[in-house]
Amino acid sequence: MSVIGYESKIQLIMELRSQGITDADVLSAIERVPRETFVPEGFRHRANDNDALPIGHGQTISQPAVVAYMTSELELEKRMKVLEIGTGSGYQTAVLSRLCRRVYTVERYRALLRGAEKRFQELRLPNVTTRWDDGSRGWPEVAPFERIIVTAAAVDVPPVLLDQLAPGGIMIVPIGGDGEDQQLLKCRKRGADVDYETLWPVRFVPLLADTVDDRRG
Ligand code: SAH
Repeated sequence: MSVIGYESKIQLIMELRSQGITDADVLSAIERVPRETFVPEGFRHRANDNDALPIGHGQTISQPAVVAYMTSELELEKRMKVLEIGTGSGYQTAVLSRLCRRVYTVERYRALLRGAEKRFQELRLPNVTTRWDDGSRGWPEVAPFERIIVTAAAVDVPPVLLDQLAPGGIMIVPIGGDGEDQQLLKCRKRGADVDYETLWPVRFVPLLADTVDDRRG
């Protein structure tokens, strides 16, 4: 039997609801994705807490409320192709994968990406494609994307990513410096224009250019 109780999951879902997350599809995705698979062993007992947790390499798995909120604001539909920048543990990826056609996810740390890939295999997620790269370049070979989600904080909206957003598409990106107050920004492409909406204040690790090859052994 899993040490991660069903009760703590129910409690988490109730907490998300009380924070204003009401989208039934998003809540159901959160309910079904086992967050304990995505956190380091020493933190498994806290997997269903509504907290960000360390995943090594100075990075964190995002707080469930933030994952749920960003996912809701993406306004996903089943047929959509989504680009995610910042795979990290792969938890947000797994949640997205239940709600769209395919997720393309990019991570700059090689070791983190390999760990996430193992989890996608273990959970048999058939619709996730991964890439070890600097995500601020996007993924030009498969662009445009109906949705883009950035899970590391950018100083400004990355223009390359905006270019790779399909007409009518939505991009959610945290904006702000490292350790400073940051704000989630929702960008919606309308013809040649982009509408911007400011969402929750957040705290994310910074979006950094280049890649890190930290393979062991
Ligand atoms: N969505 C993740 C959260 C990861 S934290 C999860 O659910 O676990 C943000 C991640 O973005 C980190 O893993 C970090 O290494 C990665 N990152 C930062 N800058 C990046 C870049 N330019 N390209 C790709 N990944 C980047």
